[in-house]
Amino acid sequence: VNVDIKLGVNKFYVDEGNPHIVLMVNPDPVEFNKLMLACPAWLYKQDDQGQYLFDSAGCLECGTCRVLCGDTILEKWTFPVGTQGVEFRYG
Ligand code: SF4
Repeated sequence: VNVDIKLGVNKFYVDEGNPHIVLMVNPDPVEFNKLMLACPAWLYKQDDQGQYLFDSAGCLECGTCRVLCGDTILEKWTFPVGTQGVEFRYG
């Protein structure tokens, strides 16, 4: 089963003004690289200029980044408030 297709059926309610995960200004490159491999939603990325990119919009709230690298690159990690965040769908 293709993981991208499975993830694509989930629905996300994004709290635009209040991201539930925030990166530090200059994240440790070694730690960031770990998350480019470990995040199951591939939200930790690097562009062609080497800039680190992160968008919490597709977060699965698995906690992997918090457990693996929390204090070294994350300014904030919380669950989305209220009814925001991922709604898992199976199909
Ligand atoms: Fe990725 Fe999981 Fe961290 Fe969300 S909680 S950004 S899905 S590793």
